[in-house]
Formats: sequence, C-alpha cells, structure tokens
Amino acid sequence: MSAQLFVVATPIGHLDDMTFRSIEILKSVSLIAAEDTRQSAQLLKHYNISTPLTACHDHNESNKIDILIEKLKNGENLALVSDAGTPLISDPGFKLVRAAQENGIKVVPIPGACAAIAALSAVGLPSDRFSFEGFLSSKQSQRLIQLEKLKNETQTMIIYEAPHRILECVKDMANVFGNDRPVGFAREITKTFETIRKMTLQELVAFIENDHNQQKGEIVLVIGGAPEEKNLDQEKLDELLTRLLQDLSVKAASQLAADLTGIKKKVAYQRALELSDKV
Ligand code: SAM
Repeated sequence: MSAQLFVVATPIGHLDDMTFRSIEILKSVSLIAAEDTRQSAQLLKHYNISTPLTACHDHNESNKIDILIEKLKNGENLALVSDAGTPLISDPGFKLVRAAQENGIKVVPIPGACAAIAALSAVGLPSDRFSFEGFLSSKQSQRLIQLEKLKNETQTMIIYEAPHRILECVKDMANVFGNDRPVGFAREITKTFETIRKMTLQELVAFIENDHNQQKGEIVLVIGGAPEEKNLDQEKLDELLTRLLQDLSVKAASQLAADLTGIKKKVAYQRALELSDKV
C-alpha cells in the first residue's frame, strides 16, 4: 500500500481531548511534522509516543515540503500536527496537504478538537449555516473594511481574536454591526478559566471592559448573522408596487414598499423602475 499523510487534530487545552485513533496514528507513523516541535514534544511525552518530530511551520513549510513528499513517496507514513486543534485551521499545513494531493499521496484526516467548532457548539447561536473568518486584520482600518463586508452576512460568523486586541475588535464590531447584534464569547475552551457567554455586542464591550481577566487567554467570537430579509414573493411585491405607482413616484413607491416589506430599497427601486412603464 502507498504511504499516507495523516492530518491529526490535537487538544486545544485539555490534554484528554486526544482521540484513541489519533494516539495510535501518532505512534505508528515514522515522522511527525509539527508547527512547534517543543510544544508537540510535551503532548507526545504525555502519551508516551516516541515518534520523532520535525518542524513544519509557516516560515519553512515551502522548503520542508520536498523532503516530506520524498519520504511519503518512499513509502513512509507521516503525520501533520499543529500546536493546538486542527491543522490548517488558522494554522500551517495547507501547502503540505496540497503538495501531497498533487503527488498522488492519500491525505487522511484524523478529526478532533477545533476551537471554532467547539465554540459554535456551545454558544447557542444558529449553527445550520456558518462561515469561518479566521483572524481579522490587526490594523483597524483594514479590520473595519472586513467588518463592513460582513455586515449583511445572514449566516453565523466565527472569528478568532488575540486577547490584546479583543476589546478594540468587539468595539469595532458594535460600531459596524450595531450594538444589539448577538455574539457568543468563548474563552479558554476546555481550560480552567473556560468562559462561554452569549449577549449583545454592547453588553460584551462592557463585560470585557469591566473584567480585565476577559482580555486574557484564547478567544473565539461567534457573531449572529444579520436578520434575513423578509421573504416576499415576486407576485406580491409587483402587486404592491403597481398599486403604489398609481399615486407615487418610483422613488416614493419603492421607499414605501421597502419600509412595509423589509426588502432592500435598491431591490424595490429596481423593480419599481421596471414596472413604472406598465402603470
Ligand atoms: N488550529 C486551531 C483550531 O483548530 O482551533 C486554531 C489555531 S489559531 C493559531 C489559535 C486561535 O484559536 C486562538 O487565538 C483562539 O482564537 C482560538 N483558540 C485556540 N484554542 C482555544 C481555546 N482553548 N479557547 C478559545 N479559543 C481558542
């Protein structure tokens, strides 16, 4: 059988969150490519895993790939781990996985902890549709542009943020998304000071400002999506606009239709314009 690259999730805090399978796989491979070998060495020690480690991080991933692919081609099974959670999720590994795939090597996920999914599973916001946005920019001007782009997103959004930026980031979110937008705050998941709360963005600003401990540790923010536009069928909208256009201008009719139905003004205006010829 040809060699395989195992992408192995590791705990995001609580060491017991390794799966039986992940331990078996890490024991069985000939080499483990790790984001930080010192960090992973502690995990391996805890589980009595003696497999050698080699560094594979953002700064050397491109150079390391050729060596690792060569080993895989020679029939050696390898594992990829990051410091915590699932590799590739705001962590290195993408280039190696892509190279393995391009070289016809089977890539096998060994699922486990992921802070984004753990947060989503516990904060109590809709989880049927969500987007993972990773880390926003550390520059405020850039972050505001990113938030503006997300403002009308209707699905739940998951964001990672560093503790020293959490307050300014949540303040920016409140400014762009509005004070009343619901937010899930998941800090230090699986660790001693685990804090999982759901509130509004305005409340979260106060919560973080009043308790400096909330600006420490690792944090996931889960933002509720923008309210869905009301679902109005085309026939009803046309009926309403046709009636309004008998007495009002295109601009006034579309404004009123938007106010009454909750659909976007631009959408109502465009349709009113199309219908105005026929009225
Ligand atoms: N690969 C990891 C995963 O699967 O979640 C994420 C790595 S990323 C470099 C680190 C970020 O993940 C942190 O800044 C924080 O936003 C989030 N994170 C990781 N562990 C966490 C924890 N125990 N509690 C809350 N957030 C955590």
